[in-house]
Amino acid sequence: MEEIDYKLINDYFNNISLRMFKDKDIEDNFLSIIRLNDKYNKFIGDRLLKNKTYYKHLDEVKMSYIDVINITKEIINTINPKYTEIIDNLLSNGKLDFAYEDGIYHDSYVIYNRHTKNKLININRTFTFNDVVILIHEFMHYVTSISTSFNDYIITEFISIYFELYANIYLLNNYNPSLSSIYYEERLLSSYKRSDSIYGIEFPFIAYINFGNLNENSYNLVNQYILPYTKKNYEFECNKVIRLIEKENNEKNKYIQSSQFSLIERNIYYFLATIMAFYVRGKYDMKDVINLAENVSNDEKYDLSLFEIFKKYNLKIEDDIFNITFDEIEKYLSLFENKKQRVN
Ligand SMILES: [Zn+2]
Repeated sequence: MEEIDYKLINDYFNNISLRMFKDKDIEDNFLSIIRLNDKYNKFIGDRLLKNKTYYKHLDEVKMSYIDVINITKEIINTINPKYTEIIDNLLSNGKLDFAYEDGIYHDSYVIYNRHTKNKLININRTFTFNDVVILIHEFMHYVTSISTSFNDYIITEFISIYFELYANIYLLNNYNPSLSSIYYEERLLSSYKRSDSIYGIEFPFIAYINFGNLNENSYNLVNQYILPYTKKNYEFECNKVIRLIEKENNEKNKYIQSSQFSLIERNIYYFLATIMAFYVRGKYDMKDVINLAENVSNDEKYDLSLFEIFKKYNLKIEDDIFNITFDEIEKYLSLFENKKQRVN
């Protein structure tokens, strides 16, 4: 590695750390997060990716606009009856938009204009049950308000993913969709991709967090004090960081997208939010998540760390996170797979 390459990586990690480690939760638990990530990566790789016959294209069930709205309202009503009124208001104000593939806005999202305080939801339709699930995800972003800090992003993403999983199961139980018309594995697979990108650069990042700016000697320090690794892999991962930085610089021009976070940060918060959604599903009551969703945007949350916020809402994150999370993912997948067996 050239010195100039180390500088590039150090600057990148430095920028990320300033935002990500504003409170100490993520930094203090970074090794645990990496371990969770490794386990998740292996689990999903074995569980979902080995069995390729799983993959089917979604049937076009041609769900109408009215179906999407009505089913969404029905589900939203079981989460919080107050929310149905908000959906009605969004519709009458033209703030809920159903766009179609147009090459630029190829995604579903909530847009927030900081100056006008205007919020818009856009859903890119697939005409399947997934439109309902995505709308519920984005709607939860809408009501939990727009986030500013790294922790806010984890919490609001957690809430959206939690209710997205809830919506999938609600649809399974009440609408009996064909398994090829519901994207029930989508979240697990997209988090797998994100997990994979963290997996690929964990060694230099751990080196940076523990010993500061990377240099010739960083490899030896980590190998000696933190975890064993080969020098070849270390350099391979450093090169991966450089490619990631290049990718990110290209993306900035390619998309009309203004995220304040780098790819790695986005991958980490989506990954953590997914893990937490399954963990909380497996351990706690939905009413506490509803309570968190209802209060998080007007709370004095800036004085609290991420883990303190979860604790405040009776959703304490503890050492059982490994077992509970992976059991719950297994349970969730089985719900859908049992249906598959019944059909066959
Ligand atoms: Zn989201």
